Amino acid sequence: MKKIFLQRGKDKSLRRFHPWVFSGACAGKFSHLEEGEVVEVYDADKNYLATGHFHNSSICVRVFSFKQVVPDYDFWKKKIGKAVSYRKTLSLINNPNTTIFRMVNGEGDSLPGLIIDWFDGNVVLQFHSMGMFLLRDTFKNILLELFPGQIKSIYDKSSATLLPDSSVTNDELLFGQLDEVCVRENGVPFYIDIINGQKTGFFIDQRDNRKIVGEFAKGKRVLNLFCYTGGFSGYALQGGAEVVHSVDISKKAIEWTDRNMAMLGDLATKHASYAENVFDFLNDMPDDYYDLIVLDPPAFAKHHRVKEQGIKGYRNINKKAMEKIRNGGLLFTFSCSQAIDKEDFQTIAFSAAAIAGKEVRIVKQLHQSMDHPINIFHPEGDYLKGLVLQIQD
Ligand code: SAH
Repeated sequence: MKKIFLQRGKDKSLRRFHPWVFSGACAGKFSHLEEGEVVEVYDADKNYLATGHFHNSSICVRVFSFKQVVPDYDFWKKKIGKAVSYRKTLSLINNPNTTIFRMVNGEGDSLPGLIIDWFDGNVVLQFHSMGMFLLRDTFKNILLELFPGQIKSIYDKSSATLLPDSSVTNDELLFGQLDEVCVRENGVPFYIDIINGQKTGFFIDQRDNRKIVGEFAKGKRVLNLFCYTGGFSGYALQGGAEVVHSVDISKKAIEWTDRNMAMLGDLATKHASYAENVFDFLNDMPDDYYDLIVLDPPAFAKHHRVKEQGIKGYRNINKKAMEKIRNGGLLFTFSCSQAIDKEDFQTIAFSAAAIAGKEVRIVKQLHQSMDHPINIFHPEGDYLKGLVLQIQD
């Protein structure tokens, strides 16, 4: 197996089981390595540290083992098996009420570079490293072995997540047939657009938080901002909301929202959707109308370089929502920016509250759903932060 040596003193993070090796920590060049190749990492005294996939970028090795291994079919099968068994403990396997979940969450399942989502027997593989991409047939075969007769399709959706200079430019159906996909999440039905939808098709990480919105929605006028295909809206309607309004800039997302709400029968009469920019909607909407507002924007700060700009964006929309919500109303506010941590996000809410001149209670702190676990040695995996805030004059 090929090797990479670290510079002296650069082994601390690997000794703390952090799964990333940065190219700046390495000694020598990488000319002997192919993109995606399995490499062993050693310290300057030639002591073995870890095994992972080489990636010619700033994170140059993504570690999948801290013990010397031969990563054969059985090795990967055992790892996927562990991830599946964790989802069993969450009652997500063969659960007719929730037929959609994340089966593998990259670093969180000690499988850096690999995402596997399950949509009622339709599996989406998303590779974030060439090393994992090169194993796609292995993962396909493992899944077919672990779920005999239960898999309708396996779709590789990696063209947007692999390095732009990789040769992978197409998504590809690897198995079966991808027919119309309709899932249930906590009993709420949703159509899923795997091929053209955002991410793998649905924001599965919000499942637990959507449930909480549903529990607070009874008799409320609910506004779902950045609604995508109406995830929070469906729960609010089923939870007994008086009115639900959904806003997204994408016309396509709004079409899917309408289609999803139509599945709720008569409840759909309480719903209206708007293909609009949230910033304009917030400016133009009436004061004191909505009792519950969900603010779930896309990542405003994708990198540390643009963190300040992101903070301003979050502060601005949170301030607007706090100013306009009905006295005593609840704001469910989120950030999925990795560059903004929990403390940053709370500070953003604090500043927004101060500028809006409101009394604000933190009702609850929210996180990504439990099928998106965080590797304790990889705190970067804690990307979704949310707050339920009660806003009063
Ligand atoms: N809450 C959603 C996920 C939101 S993803 C769910 O539970 O599924 C973020 C969404 O914001 C995307 O659908 C994107 O189209 C939308 N978006 C991005 N910028 C926007 C803007 N300025 N105004 C309105 N929607 C926007």
